[in-house]
Amino acid sequence: MNVIIFGPPGAGKGTQALKIVKTFDLFQVSTGDLLRNEVKNQTSIGKDIENIISKGDFATDEIVNELIKNVVFDEKKKNKLIFDGYPRSLNQAKNLDFLLNSSNQKIDYVFFLNVQKDTIIKRIEKRKILEKRSDDNLDIILKRYETYMETTKPVLEFYSKKENYYEIDGGGKIDEISSKIKQILSV
Ligand code: AMP
Repeated sequence: MNVIIFGPPGAGKGTQALKIVKTFDLFQVSTGDLLRNEVKNQTSIGKDIENIISKGDFATDEIVNELIKNVVFDEKKKNKLIFDGYPRSLNQAKNLDFLLNSSNQKIDYVFFLNVQKDTIIKRIEKRKILEKRSDDNLDIILKRYETYMETTKPVLEFYSKKENYYEIDGGGKIDEISSKIKQILSV
């Protein structure tokens, strides 16, 4: 199966993806991690990406679509993908549909982790201390939230009409949330 975990920054997408990966033997695809790798490895696009991320803006669709392509066509990972942080725009959602169709795959489950803005701010401030991410300070958090509302909300509307869409209250405890998700995936 292929799964999308969707939600605002700080919703717990990565945390939940990790839990599911272990239980269901899947591969986590985090575009945030893929982009941070480009920065770390100082690739030709790494410097531009670093500027974009640190301002709280989005990387271009071209860049992330290209990074995702390699993963979707990887035979080892076929029908075992959990997307965390992708798609984040309608263009990316359509690109994902196209890539999956072209490789005889589809999205089987979409989970939306619904979390309120004040909870997000608290969580990201905590993560800042633990992970030392350059984009986890208050101004940037608010910017990322705004960008999410503007760009990513239409993607939510796109998926919420589909049958395999599940909204989960992402404001609770990590294990409670993951057991709800696992229950749905186990049916
Ligand atoms: P994340 O680790 O998912 O919170 O992503 C960190 C940052 O990477 C975001 O704030 C964006 O700047 C960038 N990013 C991650 N995924 C995407 C995406 N699908 N499209 C555009 N930018 C992205």
